[in-house]
Amino acid sequence: MKSVLHSLINFQDQTIFVHIKHVKNIHLKINEKNEIILTIPHPKCMDQAQLFLQSKWQWVSKVLDGRTRNPQFISKKYCDNEIFYLLGKPLKLKIVPIQAPITRFFYDDQYIYIEVRPNLKYDFSKIIDTLYKNVVIDFIHKNALAWQQKLNVTVSQYDVKKFTARWGCCYYWKHKIALNSLLAPKPPHLIEYVLVHELVHLLEPGHGPRFYNLMNLYLPNWQELKKELNKN
Ligand SMILES: [Zn+2]
Repeated sequence: MKSVLHSLINFQDQTIFVHIKHVKNIHLKINEKNEIILTIPHPKCMDQAQLFLQSKWQWVSKVLDGRTRNPQFISKKYCDNEIFYLLGKPLKLKIVPIQAPITRFFYDDQYIYIEVRPNLKYDFSKIIDTLYKNVVIDFIHKNALAWQQKLNVTVSQYDVKKFTARWGCCYYWKHKIALNSLLAPKPPHLIEYVLVHELVHLLEPGHGPRFYNLMNLYLPNWQELKKELNKN
């Protein structure tokens, strides 16, 4: 059945798309573009719809927050003050116009700064991809050696790649470990979980009982961490 966009309303600083359709009840959904769509049976239901929205708002916030943390899901606008998570912390994007020969990007505990030359077009998604990669490489530099010593394993090479269906990978015979750059928005303890998982594979390549015994030994709360990592 064809729906009609009746209006846009503002609720809790979010735009809500209100559709009127021949439906029995009020429906609320968040589509893949993160648009909040409220379907109501009749224009007269608007007051009722606001109450319905209020009652569901906790769920809406939870879904949107989860998606903000999941860079695969969201289509970003790459504008000033847009939130990007790095190591579990929400940072605001700041595009800094500057006459510089190269594009630089860096971050502090509040902002991600991207320096751009005015009047040039940039593919900001690629810049953020590189930033994510750098963040994970930096995490490996700071944390991997201690874990290698703890597990008594050697690694010939670390690699950071944008994987679509895995958080990490262990090339057992080559003693190589790869981590997903999309771990960058996650809190450090979750990146550490993936790192340890892959390092333990150097002791036990499969996912049999020996692997899980080793995980229990070195990271007893790994099951909680795994759940938290895959929550969003
Ligand atoms: Zn594994």
